[in-house]
Order: sequence, then structure tokens, then C-alpha cells
Amino acid sequence: MTDNEQMRARWDRVMMANYGTPPVTLTHGSGARVWDADGTEYLDLLAGIAVNTLGHAHPAIAAAVAEQAQRLIHVSNLAAHEPGVELAEQLVALAGRPARVFFSQDGATANEAAYKIARRHGWAKDPSGGSLEIVAAEGSFHGRTMGALSITGNAAKRIPFEPLPGPVTFVPYGDADALAAAVTAHTSAVFLEPVQGEGGVIPAPAGYLAAARRITATHDALLVLDEVQSGIGRTGAWFAGAAADPDVLTLAKGLAGGMPLGACLAFGGAGDLLRPGDHGTTFGGNPVSCAAALAVLQTISADGLLGHVTEVGEALATGLAATPHPLVAGQRGAGLWRALLLSEPVAPAVEAAARERGYLVNAVRPDAIRLAPPLIITQDEVDRFLADLPDILTTAQETP
Ligand SMILES: *Cc1c(COP(=O)(O)O)cnc(C)c1O
Repeated sequence: MTDNEQMRARWDRVMMANYGTPPVTLTHGSGARVWDADGTEYLDLLAGIAVNTLGHAHPAIAAAVAEQAQRLIHVSNLAAHEPGVELAEQLVALAGRPARVFFSQDGATANEAAYKIARRHGWAKDPSGGSLEIVAAEGSFHGRTMGALSITGNAAKRIPFEPLPGPVTFVPYGDADALAAAVTAHTSAVFLEPVQGEGGVIPAPAGYLAAARRITATHDALLVLDEVQSGIGRTGAWFAGAAADPDVLTLAKGLAGGMPLGACLAFGGAGDLLRPGDHGTTFGGNPVSCAAALAVLQTISADGLLGHVTEVGEALATGLAATPHPLVAGQRGAGLWRALLLSEPVAPAVEAAARERGYLVNAVRPDAIRLAPPLIITQDEVDRFLADLPDILTTAQETP
């Protein structure tokens, strides 16, 4: 048995079945490369699902985590700490508008905070409870906790756990007319991803987020942008939907480069909706995660990574679309966040063939492969993948 096989057997004996058994056990990484338990090297084109912003073992994150761990790991929310306040200040400055911040542990809990803000807004709007409806998009993903799940537009994930909080109305993503028809005086908030991630890396059509802003403003509903996957450089901008001036914006995945951290930013009056005692968390915004996030923001700025993401992302998009293979139906996405669209529903076979060839990718839909590499990936590394892609696709096609 290989070490990977041994770990799979151990996993199967003690871990719940919710994830399925992972194909590999990863032991260490460096930059955009990772190694598994059998010593096989991979180019990581997924970055822990858009999380390892600066790749693996980045010295700035390692130093920030080590220094903070030697100083102070946890304080509870009964005390302030410098990295947390500093990080909130920097996020508000990057957003460019007055805002208040709540730190959570992850994406779902950032969205739970946003959900509570929406509830407060709904009750303020109509004290008899007639304005508590949330409008969300089909194909959306907002997390696995019950509130975040209730607004996730994926029936297979949602239905087994009903009843869930409501009322929630789902509209087709990207259809401004459908959104205009759904949002009424009964709506407390509209939740949207600027680019649907789990839905298959689907960017909002031009003008959609601006229309959502107008529609929500007309009906005094909050516009909540879930930037858990799209935020912090992934699309070549700090925030993918900032131009829409949302009332609430949530962050998590890439924020702390791999340390667990989420954030809910609420702008203007929305920042005052949660009152003392309304919400809390033990671990959210802990000093070590905040120190890591400060290192991420500093490195993205100092190394000019936003421009790098735009440049390498465009080259990746062009290369994917031009891949000479009958399985390639096109590509979509933004920055270093792309879906390779397949002409047949063989994405799981492509994911496996890529892994055999030394690349970690993700079959995000049956006919789409998600690429979300670390923002530090080099043009050479991207070119190496593009050169191997036709062979990977042929192998996948020949898989029985
Ligand atoms: C991953 C994701 C979430 C959930 O984040 P967790 O950290 O897994 O709870 C929420 N929204 C979006 C857009 C995501 O991509």
C-alpha cells in the first residue's frame, strides 16, 4: 500500500462520509507547488479552493503567524487586540467607504452575520414582520450553516435539511428583470455573488450588480455581496463588486491566506444595525488569523499582485480558450479564477487525469473545471499546464 492509500484507509475508518474519501494526502508545499504523502509533486491550480492566496509556506505569512503565536494567540471578545483593529481599519480603507467590521471564522459565519443584519433591517422596515424576505440567486453558494444554506440556490444541498429559515425567493442569476420582479416592499435583503464560484465561476453580466443596487435601493432592501471567494485579489481587484456600492460585503477564503478568518463589512447605516449583544463568536477574528491577513494584504500591495493576477489571468484565459482539443468548449471567469468549459460532462475524469499528470484542479460542475491558483503563480507555471492540457484531456476522454 502506498502512503496515500494507507491514509485513505485510515480516513475511511474514522471520518464522516460527508466529503467522500480524498484522493491524496498532502504533506507540504512551497509557492504554487505541493507534495503528497508518496512524494509526488503537484502544481496547485486550486489553492485550497481559492484560499492559499500567496501559495504555500509563504515567508510573510509564516513569519506573521509565528510572531503572533509567540506573543498572543487568543483574547476572547472581551478584550481588543491590535491585529484585529488594524485589519478592520485596512479593510475599510480598501473598501473606500465608511464601514464597520465583524470578524467571523469562515465564509458561512460571515454570511450568518450578514443574515442577522438583514433581519434587523427587515424588522426595522416593518415592525409587524412583513419585510423579512430574502432574495437570492439560483446556483448560488453561501455556506453550510442553516442560515447560509437557506439562501443557497442549490436544492440538492438544501432540501435534506429543511425546514430552514425563510422566507427566501430564488431568481435566475444575471437576470436583472427577474430580480426587479422579485424585490418588493417585503424584501429585507438581496444576497448575490459578484462571480458565482461553486455555481461554476460565472461572472455577473455587465450592469447586473448596478441594476441590483438600483432595485434594492428603490425598495429599501439591503444589497449584500458575498465576496467570500471573489474578494482579496482573486479577480485582479481587492473586491470584485465594490463598484456596486453594496450595503454589506462578506469575505473569507483568501483573506488570511489559509488561516481561518471571515469578515462581514457593513457600510453606512447598515454598520449600525447589529446592537450590543446581537451577535458574537469565540474564535472569529483571532489575533493569529488577523496577523496572517495583514501579511496577505501587505504582500498583495508590495508585490503588485493585483496587476499580476490580471495579466497572468488573461494569459490563462486566452490559453484555455485556444487549447487545441475537441473537449474544449470555451472558458469563463475573471482574473486568476477560471472555468474550463467542456463539450462533454467528463469533468471528474479530467480532474483525475490532471492529478495523474501533476496538476490539482477541481471538477466544479460536470462539464466545467475550476482553476483558482495562488495569486503568486508564475506565467511559466501557467504555460506548463497549458502545454500539458491537451494530453490531460485526451487521457480523460479515453477513461472508460
Ligand atoms: C466557500 C464559500 C462560502 C462558505 O465559506 P466557508 O468558509 O466554507 O463557510 C460562502 N460563500 C461563497 C461565495 C463561497 O465560495
